[in-house]
Amino acid sequence: MLKTKDILDEKEKILRTVSKEVTFPLTKEDKETIDTMIKYLHDSQIDDLAQEYDLRPGMGMSAIQLGIPKRYFVVVHEVEEGQFDTYILINPRIISNSMEKIYVEEGEGCLSVNRPVEGIVPRYARVTMEAYDMEGKLINVRAREELAICFQHELDHLNGILFVDHIDPKNPFKDRDLYRPI
Ligand code: ZN
Repeated sequence: MLKTKDILDEKEKILRTVSKEVTFPLTKEDKETIDTMIKYLHDSQIDDLAQEYDLRPGMGMSAIQLGIPKRYFVVVHEVEEGQFDTYILINPRIISNSMEKIYVEEGEGCLSVNRPVEGIVPRYARVTMEAYDMEGKLINVRAREELAICFQHELDHLNGILFVDHIDPKNPFKDRDLYRPI
């Protein structure tokens, strides 16, 4: 079972790797990794389980956060209390996006960033991603608002980018008026 301490911290240089495209069929290890990531993200968002297993809550995780430099991520999105949608995106790319940009008002978070970080990270309000599913079938996924932000955050991980990189420490709330808070 995956524990919070197994998730790499930003100090680990491998998080800066540009991950490699995945080939199909998936290896048994990758399938197991995906299952493990889904379970962690799911359990971490259920208070009782998060407390019992000491899991830091998160809704998205990329393989590189476990030290695996491959282009895939998993998102477990709570759509209503206790109801989750699960997304597995392999070799994802953005094929269209809104002009409008938004940001998380309380600040973005990341399972690899274990310190408070102030500032805004502008993200597209809506994106459509093309990716492969676990069977190697090409899929289109549309996301808006919080889910769209999460997809862009995870896609950044595949390119070695952390959300903190988007924030100017000297002016963390720069151009705030240009974007919509959510
Ligand atoms: Zn992250």
